[in-house]
Amino acid sequence: MPSSRLVPSRSTAVRLAALLACSVFTWAHADGGDETPGVVSSVKLPSQAKGQPPSWAGKAFRQGVVAVANPYGAEAGAKVLEQGGNAIDAAVAIAYALNVVEPQSAGIGGGGFMMIHLAGTGETFTIDSRETAPAGATREMFLRTPVTDPPVAIPTPSQQGVAVGVPGMVRGTALAIEKHGRLSLAQVLQPAIQLAGEGFAATPRFVTSPNCANPAQSRALNSPLVADYFCPGGKAIPEGTLVKNAALADTLRLIATHGADCFYKFMPEKGCDIAQGIVEGQTFKRSAAGSKGGSMTLADLEGYQAAVREPIEGTYRGYKIKSMAPPSSGALTIIQILKQLERFPIGDVSAGYGFGSAKTLNVMAESMRLAFADRADWMADADPGFAKVPTKGLINDTYLSGRSAAIVPGVRMTPDPLPGDPRVFETAGLQPAKALALAPPVTGPDNGTTHFSVVDKWGNVVSYTNTIESGYGIGVFAGYTRPDGTFRNHGFLLNNELTDFNVIPSKNRVTQEIGYNDVQPGKRPRSSMAPTMLFTPDGKPFLAYGSPGGATIINSVVNITVNLIDHKMGLQEAIDAGRISVASANVTPTGSVQLESRLPAASIAAMGALGYRLTGGDIGSVQAVLIDQKTGKQYGGADNRREGTVIGLPRSQGR
Ligand code: GLU
Repeated sequence: MPSSRLVPSRSTAVRLAALLACSVFTWAHADGGDETPGVVSSVKLPSQAKGQPPSWAGKAFRQGVVAVANPYGAEAGAKVLEQGGNAIDAAVAIAYALNVVEPQSAGIGGGGFMMIHLAGTGETFTIDSRETAPAGATREMFLRTPVTDPPVAIPTPSQQGVAVGVPGMVRGTALAIEKHGRLSLAQVLQPAIQLAGEGFAATPRFVTSPNCANPAQSRALNSPLVADYFCPGGKAIPEGTLVKNAALADTLRLIATHGADCFYKFMPEKGCDIAQGIVEGQTFKRSAAGSKGGSMTLADLEGYQAAVREPIEGTYRGYKIKSMAPPSSGALTIIQILKQLERFPIGDVSAGYGFGSAKTLNVMAESMRLAFADRADWMADADPGFAKVPTKGLINDTYLSGRSAAIVPGVRMTPDPLPGDPRVFETAGLQPAKALALAPPVTGPDNGTTHFSVVDKWGNVVSYTNTIESGYGIGVFAGYTRPDGTFRNHGFLLNNELTDFNVIPSKNRVTQEIGYNDVQPGKRPRSSMAPTMLFTPDGKPFLAYGSPGGATIINSVVNITVNLIDHKMGLQEAIDAGRISVASANVTPTGSVQLESRLPAASIAAMGALGYRLTGGDIGSVQAVLIDQKTGKQYGGADNRREGTVIGLPRSQGR
């Protein structure tokens, strides 16, 4: 069994201490717990068990800051910055390290969006490493066969091989390093290789996320090898256990030695057999009747290309906001929500608004409902041959002021808002169509996806959201059976990103084309991932941020934006504050307004009294870096909803 794990014992504890103390890639808290300057983490490991973590607020740096949802991931990024890497190098190092220490959320079996701002040229662009549907994918691939009328999906489509998209992370990160890094891909892979090969102490989230005690609810138990890794003997791993993944270390070494082609091309003469592991892994069928494997071939992998895209831009109260363009719905929906809100003085306590007031939550909820109504029908992959997304019309000021007019403070809109027709604001000569019915929103479970942000000493900034979609993806490691019958495990989880398409084929009821987000070969499924940057009115980068959370990602970004701009909060305060999310126009009876319990109880009650159906639970996990352009000081903020960790450089400063 290539992956190995040791249950803590005295000798393991000694080994762990030795590893943490001696390693070149030293765990930042190993020598001093809360005394380590420049490091702020929401997770406490055995090596940092003394005292409380230091306060989040107020630490400023000048040599770079990383904000990551896991302490080992943050350490990987900080180390690379200290070795002379730039923000792009650090971001790629973090992405690979997270594949080891936060494998349930993201990794080389999936894809993501990396927004980059280059200080030297002032350019801001994104690298899209979103998964694609294989050439053999069809609109009906998630349906039971024979197809019934109305069509019915196969059981648990998100846990079947048919959900696996062609992974993009390796191509995307290789492109980023090749074009914009100062170090090589092999160099930035070293922290991840070390973590996988020598091990790391299991964090609280690593041990609780698999939900080992509840097989029916656990995607980590979908296949025997993955179950054995995350829940050995059917039990949760004790916190602090040294966890290794030798198979993944080997896979990462192959990529470091031979480059991205070793992932995408089957070249056994070089030892590059990862592609074979992906192709065989995605044939996985869950045992339920009607299970379906995927159609991906080696040719699909060879043909994968990352895309460099312009972000979509808007403004909010004078600040410029840039976020992820299609295939993400992120930028368009975020800008819609903010523009529709702009006419309300939501920072003004004397007008009954202010943070967390029922009036503020009410107008935010209504703006979200309006925007999500548009998202359902108009947003998807806009590359040639796919959806004709009206990207200009959807964020046109006149269009949005018309939409915003429907928001009335103190009122929950009934009937539920419907999509508008933004095409008339994009192209002359078209008439508005009649109102449309709604498609259901697509959301992702809580464990999937991770967001991190980096700024370096030169002022380059990265905002990167990475995912395998649901926590643990399809719950299967890439790997294949060798001719001699032994199993070659590649040690990374395969995504279930294709369930971000419409699982049931639909029709765009205005244009009568196929549903904008229906499956098509080569197409990228619609995403909500929204790596975002805010710029000062004179165009300087001010904030990089984003979140996991499926469709709630969009709303987490909106919450942070209004917390900073309207409510004038500090960065960490803005992240800690309670969030609101509505990811569907239809908030009753089937949809709901999600209000975190961190919000004032009286406001939650007042929202209920307006007739909203309410739910609770944590929303997202925001990691952000902020640059004060007046002073040059850099700040980080991270989310204690997961294991958010900020490391600022130099480590001797920031107190
Ligand atoms: N796959 C989702 C998306 O691209 C993200 C999933 C999540 O954040 O949980 O929008």
